[in-house]
Amino acid sequence: MGSASRWWLHRSLKALDKDLRRLGSRLIIRSGEAGEILAEISSILYVKTIIYSRTFDAKCENFDTRLDIGGHVDFMRIDSALIVPPGIVTTKSGTPFRVFTPFYRAAVEAGFFHPRDPGGTSLRPWRAPDHWPESLEIDDLGLDDTRTRSGRDWAAGFDRFTPGEDGARQALDGFLENHLMGYADDRDRPDLDATSHLSPHLRFGEISPHRILFELAKAVQRNPALTAPAEKFRSELAWREFSYSLLDQAPDLHTSNIHREFDAFPWTDDDDGFRAWCRGETGYDLVDAGMRELWQSGYMHNRVRMICASFLTKHLLIDWRRGEQWFWDCLLDADPANNPASWQWVAGCGADAAPYFRIFNPLTQAEKFDPAGRYRRRWLGVNNRPAPIIDHGHARNRALEAYQSIRKDARHDDSD
Ligand SMILES: Cc1cc2nc3c(=O)[nH]c(=O)nc-3n(C[C@H](O)[C@H](O)[C@H](O)COP(=O)(O)OP(=O)(O)OC[C@H]3O[C@@H](n4cnc5c(N)ncnc54)[C@H](O)[C@@H]3O)c2cc1C
Repeated sequence: MGSASRWWLHRSLKALDKDLRRLGSRLIIRSGEAGEILAEISSILYVKTIIYSRTFDAKCENFDTRLDIGGHVDFMRIDSALIVPPGIVTTKSGTPFRVFTPFYRAAVEAGFFHPRDPGGTSLRPWRAPDHWPESLEIDDLGLDDTRTRSGRDWAAGFDRFTPGEDGARQALDGFLENHLMGYADDRDRPDLDATSHLSPHLRFGEISPHRILFELAKAVQRNPALTAPAEKFRSELAWREFSYSLLDQAPDLHTSNIHREFDAFPWTDDDDGFRAWCRGETGYDLVDAGMRELWQSGYMHNRVRMICASFLTKHLLIDWRRGEQWFWDCLLDADPANNPASWQWVAGCGADAAPYFRIFNPLTQAEKFDPAGRYRRRWLGVNNRPAPIIDHGHARNRALEAYQSIRKDARHDDSD
């Protein structure tokens, strides 16, 4: 796990333990062979049923098969982490979808996006056992280590979010109440507070996408004018589902190009460029503002993520995997499916990728999506700005040449 994710997990576990203790229960954390540990705990607590949700990270995929603990314990699996469990929605010939729109259409037609009442919490206060099974302490897991070498707390600015189920619920309620109406129009504007900020909550399972669909449908029922923005929001949630379907097809999504012709791409080892990009010192204000938002807040607006990723891979010709790793370490929502799938999409080597010739111009993007410069000023201040480390026109031509070297059918297009 990356550093920012560990910061989140630490607080998320604390919040979960607090919620459970309110019900007279508690969180038990153990490390070792899942089957053996569950067998031991089940016998201490007289467990009848183990209810669990699958994660879809490749590292956890064998969990199901390790659960056979014998005895009289029933297992009940609920797929609460995804709306479309991978491998179920396929093309007519039975193969997984490689393109988003038909994937989404097929999933909608199959009824997956039909909102279902996920029910309220069924946990009730209960009488604690005389002896609790042993547990590791959350503080001993080594997750909360965001002090830099100079002793500064790198996470001091992560305060936009409140890890835990309550925080997730508040983010959803606040979004539905205040921002859903403008979502379709404003979601691309980093200078406005227009999106849900649910991504880390979804990443850590603090809210289920089924709950989001259900509350979304209720909001539309109360106010039919929300129909169109709610549909836009639903389709964005579906990108997450699509990413997981790609991860299911390619467990090495973070290391291997989906389009294998990119294996021959002439990436450069531009260490100075990489350092400037990480530090927000490229001289392109929107890129630098985004990279500083990431470092300081653990988050970056989606439009700016696309522009920063495009700048790294196309202007600097640096391998998308280096950028993916930096995001993985810095993002609170660093996700094993969304992060690599999005990086591959921007770099041009992914499924359903943006056409390789679409090279964002960070200057025109800034005028379009941050018209009054509010976002840039917020993250850059008004200090003297460095000169651009590379000329846009030169970088663009260099990138097109590099892409042409691996694509026989290269075409030019001036759309930014
Ligand atoms: C280079 C790059 C890296 C990214 N890395 C991650 C990552 O590690 N984790 C992550 O959750 N998202 C990632 N995204 C997708 C997207 O930027 C974030 O999901 C979004 O910005 C989160 O903010 P939000 O919750 O306010 O989004 P909203 O607009 O409110 O969207 C609601 C939810 O839909 C999902 N979603 C929205 N857009 C996308 C998308 N393009 N792809 C997949 N899911 C989407 C997310 O779960 C999000 O929380 C990345 C995008 C790019 C271009």
